Amino acid sequence: MQKRAGRKSARGGRALLTGLVRCGRCGRLMRIYYGSAAGHAHRYQCRGALDSGAGKICIGAGGIRVDRAVANQIMEAVSDHAIEAAMEAAERSSLAENDVCCALAKELEAARYEASLAARRYEMVDPAKRLVARELESRWNTALERVNEIEKRIRDLDEQRSRRPAIDSEALLALAHDLPAVWNAPGGDIRTRQRLARILLQEVVIDLDEAANQVVLVIHWTGGRHTEVRIARVRTGRYPDDRHPSAVEVIRKLGGHWPDRELAVTMNRMRCKGRDGKTWTVLRVRELRERLGIAAFDLDGVTAELITVDETARRLSICIGSVKRLIREGVLPATQLMPSAPWQIPAAAIETEEVKIGVRRVIDRRPRNFKVLQDLKSLKLPGF
Ligand SMILES: [Zn+2]
Repeated sequence: MQKRAGRKSARGGRALLTGLVRCGRCGRLMRIYYGSAAGHAHRYQCRGALDSGAGKICIGAGGIRVDRAVANQIMEAVSDHAIEAAMEAAERSSLAENDVCCALAKELEAARYEASLAARRYEMVDPAKRLVARELESRWNTALERVNEIEKRIRDLDEQRSRRPAIDSEALLALAHDLPAVWNAPGGDIRTRQRLARILLQEVVIDLDEAANQVVLVIHWTGGRHTEVRIARVRTGRYPDDRHPSAVEVIRKLGGHWPDRELAVTMNRMRCKGRDGKTWTVLRVRELRERLGIAAFDLDGVTAELITVDETARRLSICIGSVKRLIREGVLPATQLMPSAPWQIPAAAIETEEVKIGVRRVIDRRPRNFKVLQDLKSLKLPGF
């Protein structure tokens, strides 16, 4: 696990927190997964008990949002203001320590005096009075113990103070001033940021708050402080919560452009609820469409030919996933009438040179035994 993480960062991983994230659920170090295509977002993921062969995958969080939140915290922590506040606090605590030292010195003086008194009393007692002598001896010992105890406390305190590095306030303020510029420099080196994160952070514990739909980060700073940060979580593949379109809105925008079957699938995916909250079927979509007075999809009436992802995949002889990838990469021009609506691709576009090159790349990426795998999928019946 460690080995892989190390290798990734050596190859120039984009994650800020390489080797620094721990799962808040099970305590394991989280791994970083990079998308296959360049520029794809990374993800912090705990594999849970998967490695041991039992159990299932644990929790994960989108890397970009986590990195951004931590970077903001780092900026805040090293801002001029924060550093001035920290120096003030350090000064205050050293003043308080001085008070403690003074008090201890006085206490020591008193204890030593007590001890010397006890010693004198013991010396003056008549040796014949054994019981009294024993009592005075024990008092003398107690007084000496007290002196030792206070001396030890003073030594500990001195040691603590000498171990603490002296604060170079000018250097700190200079750092606070330069850091945002270094961090946000265009073309800034991710390695520099990773190094800074390693210096400033001990680790970041990631957990999920399902009820609030948030990622909860607990940043453990070098030096022992913690900061909790919560970031909104986006569930992948789902329509954002605040943008559930109403059924009428969707039919007004998409009705007539797509067959009712396609509309039903899309509306269910968008989680757009009807008044009764039921799933959309072809029949229910048709009813609503007719009620709104929108004509049905007419294949013959389509002038500038727009085709679906499925049809594009069929015409290019590649899979649907590859078509979507070409759309993402900007190779295939495609439009959506609204977010999450099915893609529309101009039929003429699939003839362009750029698309041909893209398709060639898809085919080149196929495993060598692709043909065999394809054949295995279609069942061959003897005699047919
Ligand atoms: Zn876990």
